[in-house]
Amino acid sequence: MTEIQADGGPIPLIPDDLTIPQFMLDVHHPARPTLRKPQPWLIEELTGREICSDELRARTFGLANALKVRWNIGEDDVVCIFGPNHIDYPVAIWAVHRLGGIITGANPAYTVEELEYQLSTTKARVLIAHPGSLPVALEAAKKAGVPPERVVVFDPVDGAQNTTVEQLVGEGLALPQRFVERRLAPGEGRKKLAFLSFSSGTTGRPKAVMIPHYAVLANVIQMAHHTNAKDESKPLEQQRYKPGSKILGLLPFYHIYGLVVVMHFSLFIGTTLVVVQKFNFEQMLDSIQRYRITHLCLVPPMVVLLCKHPAVKNYDLSSVMHLMSGAAPLSSELMTQLMQIMPECWIGQAYGMTETCTAVTFPPVDRKIGTLGSGGVLLPGCTARVVRPDGSLAPPGEPGELVVTGPSMALGYMNNPQATAETFQDGWVRTGDEVYFNERKEIFVVDRIKELIKVRGFQVPPAELEGLLLDHPDVGDVCVVGIPDEYSGELPLAFVVPSADALARIARAPQEAEGVRKAIMKHVADHKVHYKHLVGVEFIEVIPKNPSGKLLRRFLRDKAKEMREKG
Ligand code: AMP
Repeated sequence: MTEIQADGGPIPLIPDDLTIPQFMLDVHHPARPTLRKPQPWLIEELTGREICSDELRARTFGLANALKVRWNIGEDDVVCIFGPNHIDYPVAIWAVHRLGGIITGANPAYTVEELEYQLSTTKARVLIAHPGSLPVALEAAKKAGVPPERVVVFDPVDGAQNTTVEQLVGEGLALPQRFVERRLAPGEGRKKLAFLSFSSGTTGRPKAVMIPHYAVLANVIQMAHHTNAKDESKPLEQQRYKPGSKILGLLPFYHIYGLVVVMHFSLFIGTTLVVVQKFNFEQMLDSIQRYRITHLCLVPPMVVLLCKHPAVKNYDLSSVMHLMSGAAPLSSELMTQLMQIMPECWIGQAYGMTETCTAVTFPPVDRKIGTLGSGGVLLPGCTARVVRPDGSLAPPGEPGELVVTGPSMALGYMNNPQATAETFQDGWVRTGDEVYFNERKEIFVVDRIKELIKVRGFQVPPAELEGLLLDHPDVGDVCVVGIPDEYSGELPLAFVVPSADALARIARAPQEAEGVRKAIMKHVADHKVHYKHLVGVEFIEVIPKNPSGKLLRRFLRDKAKEMREKG
């Protein structure tokens, strides 16, 4: 059987000698619509503050200048952004890129240990934090050896002396240029790192995925070309993105979906990005109505709320013309319900992963709604193989592991040649997802072969929780699996073989079992961000393993599912 090629013809040239800010702010690219009238690039949802391109360029310069003067940030220095979405998030990214540095984004809900792991793994030199995350930022920075004066905050914090981004921007703007803009030689963009984004891949703990500038440019151009934004010959009302389009920037910019699709693609295509700091469903409905939002990029739990929350009927959502879901599967049932709630809207799914620098598929453009349950069609420039367990290629309709290539593939996992070799093979990425394509070349994600659990679109690597749980004195052995959940998609559940000591206590007093269970769950809650918390602990005599000692996860996952169904 053959490979599946994307439709849509050759993609426009992807510059391999431009950094992301040069591509976004300084040059014109043919895939970019020329229709943009002067309009804000960014709006702060809470205050209505608007930022246009000139101000964005100036703030980026100011911050870059100050980062150079204060801490000599330059070639391959890593800056960590530890915060929810903020109107200065793109400024921080592009300032660091102008200096030749690298950005790593972290979830602001992380615990000290989780942030310290990211700071140490990436050897971050500066931390830009949200005021609400400052205490965790300072403690993690201390442990990772980042001096406290290098912990910058997006906004002033009462009682804290930390420098703000605003101060740095002002400082940098008041000085003559002290840095040399990082320029790339032809071809260099393919290797020059822009982001270190964390993903566990098919197995093990979270790893820093090396994303070069070129991969981001490529994905943005692929999406722009696919969505036909350049088609100015169409009547305005038929164009998918047009002046006045507004997207709600709800999805976190520290995750690849929010970073590349919501931030970079939207801004490139001329859509105003309304930056939302914290997700609150009713506030989201209010913002859609208030700002007349035309485009929504969501994850399935947000769609569940749109379909089921009683408040939806109190808001006018008629401005929304395009709704896309990604990061986890969206069921046909939910898609059908959405169609009833928003009959005028184009609705679809995208599929992608951190290792592919986001989107591999996008909703089809020739139909308002693709086939129900489908994750879209390949973006131009992508080629897919559906591989059977014996290595042969499966025909349309038959599931197998998706192996994919295209211009936006990441370069591998930092300092981890073994995991890199397992996932990145000659420009192809093994996704660890079981999929099939139908005759119309639409993808259907059937299952996940890899270990990963996804809770509300967030990664929960079982190996990370298992490592932590094995440290607990009551745990002899453990296997963490995902169990289906209507809202979150999946939730992590631990099968635990109690330690000899815990078993003896339970034998003496059977009611102890509940105490042991609670203590194990608390152990995770004390050390990990909220979405990694266990939904339950099931005791088991032995964790099933194959002769070489590999956990038989699927067996336990099926067992957990069965237990759930039986109640
Ligand atoms: P991340 O690297 O956090 O974006 O996670 C990537 C993984 O999310 C993929 O390998 C899939 O398992 C899952 N995923 C992303 N998009 C979809 C989708 N549309 N349908 C089903 N699973 C998805």
